[in-house]
Amino acid sequence: MPGQAASETATPSPLDPRIAEVLASWWGFDRLRPLQREAIHAALDGRDSLVVMPTGGGKSLCYQLPPLVGQTTDVVISPLVALMKDQVDALEAIGYPAAAIHSGLSQEERQSIRQRLAAGELRLLFTAPERLVNTGLLDLLAQVGVRRFSIDEAHCISQWGHDFRPEYRQLSLLRDRFPSASLHAFTATATPRVRDDISSQLHLQDPEVLVGIFDRPNLCYRVVPRTDRTRQTLEILGRHKGEASIVYCISRKETERLAARLAAEGILARPYHAGLDTRERHKTQEAFARETIDVVVATVAFGMGIDRSNVRLVLHTSLPKSLEAYQQETGRAGRDGLAAECVLLYSSADVFSWESLVRKSADEAELEPEEMARLVASQTEHLHGMRRYAQAARCRHAALSEYFGQAYGTESCGACDVCLGETESLPDATVTAQKIISCVARVGERFGVRHVCEVLRGATTDGISRHGHDRLSTFGLLKTLDQRAAENLTHQLLDQGLLERSSGERPVVVLNARSWEVLRGERPVVLLEPRVGKTKTAKADVDDWQGVDRDLFERLRTWRRRVADSRSKPAWTIFDDKALRAIAREKPASPAALLRVKGIGEKRLADFGVAILDLVAGREPAE
Ligand code: ADP
Ligand code: ZN
Repeated sequence: MPGQAASETATPSPLDPRIAEVLASWWGFDRLRPLQREAIHAALDGRDSLVVMPTGGGKSLCYQLPPLVGQTTDVVISPLVALMKDQVDALEAIGYPAAAIHSGLSQEERQSIRQRLAAGELRLLFTAPERLVNTGLLDLLAQVGVRRFSIDEAHCISQWGHDFRPEYRQLSLLRDRFPSASLHAFTATATPRVRDDISSQLHLQDPEVLVGIFDRPNLCYRVVPRTDRTRQTLEILGRHKGEASIVYCISRKETERLAARLAAEGILARPYHAGLDTRERHKTQEAFARETIDVVVATVAFGMGIDRSNVRLVLHTSLPKSLEAYQQETGRAGRDGLAAECVLLYSSADVFSWESLVRKSADEAELEPEEMARLVASQTEHLHGMRRYAQAARCRHAALSEYFGQAYGTESCGACDVCLGETESLPDATVTAQKIISCVARVGERFGVRHVCEVLRGATTDGISRHGHDRLSTFGLLKTLDQRAAENLTHQLLDQGLLERSSGERPVVVLNARSWEVLRGERPVVLLEPRVGKTKTAKADVDDWQGVDRDLFERLRTWRRRVADSRSKPAWTIFDDKALRAIAREKPASPAALLRVKGIGEKRLADFGVAILDLVAGREPAE
């Protein structure tokens, strides 16, 4: 079976004792995930590497662990200050000597880091590419003899990636300036073209290329036809009361409207988008990290800096623009390896909005006609990959894996709406499709979805009487459907290419060759029931709660929130959910028993052991 959950239980040959020792005493982990071992050995051997692992796969350990083994000072290049700060916080929580040099530091802070660096006290130094090359930092790094550079989010160096950053290009000078250092590139973007580009831009020499498994078995994927955004959002959030959720919207206005609506229902929700001022955004990020709010309603601007590992729901209320984007955004769910849910509210109307947006932004970019055509074609292709995923009635895990070039072995994943049997196909779909298509023909292929559906439902509207469409033979053929259901079915036909939408200002629905095949009965049609199905519980979710004392888990969480708040740290850096659930399951009664719990190393034991043991014993903790 693919995936990290399975691989964590498989034990190949024993770990190198130096690695095992560091892993257990600093992190409290007893094994490495697949590829982490290879990546760590490449680093220790000073061999260049390119590590491609999905979000949550465990890339950071690959560069965090080696400097502890050899007592070296290594450098990590990262695109965003927020990302660096979070990592340094998490590392400091386990007593790991790390620091980040960035533009937000005062002169003294910078000076103090430079001193610690020169004194050889730091194991990891994080910095951004532009600081690295423009500030004389390189000279200092050469002086202290840095031998290893890790480049996080390395796809930012490639124009073919989904997040190109020109400042990353400057990293090509590392090879020249540090000919004897090894370079290690990390990314979650898997296309071969991007991979090759990273390798050549950084001048990697015979790199160890490690490509991880993209499937995330702990995520349960669902695609639900969108009928009522607000009502559906409330219903889905209802399954995750008090848990961390991210709700993605397409526009800034929408995030504010929806967040206000959720707040009115008593949900601890806040909006987040690039139009808010930095302080406001920062406050929301921090509140989410410290668990004082549960839900962030955001545009895709929210994510890069966010690392809360216990996000239990990622809900897209609109269609993402590509499966790469979807994989990355849903990747923020369940990073602790515990079950989490990813729901996409789908309407093919979004495809059309995206298409016009793509054309508009291409127009505004003032590109050469040829370049523009290429850009539009590539973005449209991405969009259609996303659309096909959303409207296919097949296993979501299989569809995603295959999109990323990996075969999916398991027949039924047990963690998607299709395999759980939540989607229902419409009985008599072919006949219904024929009725819709004939109606499109009867109105002369001159009207949009709404009008066609009003005619089918036998509605009385001005348009219908003006055009005399109440006299058509298709008038009222689908009387039993409501408008939303009728439109949803029509969109499904458009998605499957059984009807076509004309281009231009006011697009209308038209027939194509396939429509005629359906009408002639030569092509059977499968349509999904346009209702929201009942959801079932994914197996992973049941397993993760096995034996956990939920009351104790909640008490531990409350305590963690308090500690996080008093230390001004993200809650997950104190303890992640996996560790808290393990405590609430095993109920350790002594420091030794606590140390045996996965995720608890010596530093955490020293810092929080007494409090945890108090909580387990039902006492009020001291801190
Ligand atoms: P990535 O950077 O690839 O998105 P992270 O490095 O943030 O992923 O790791 C994701 C989660 O997996 C973190 O909570 C981390 O503590 C956990 N993790 C990483 N390696 C291991 C391991 N060997 N055993 C247990 N948990 C691990
Ligand atoms: Zn499935």
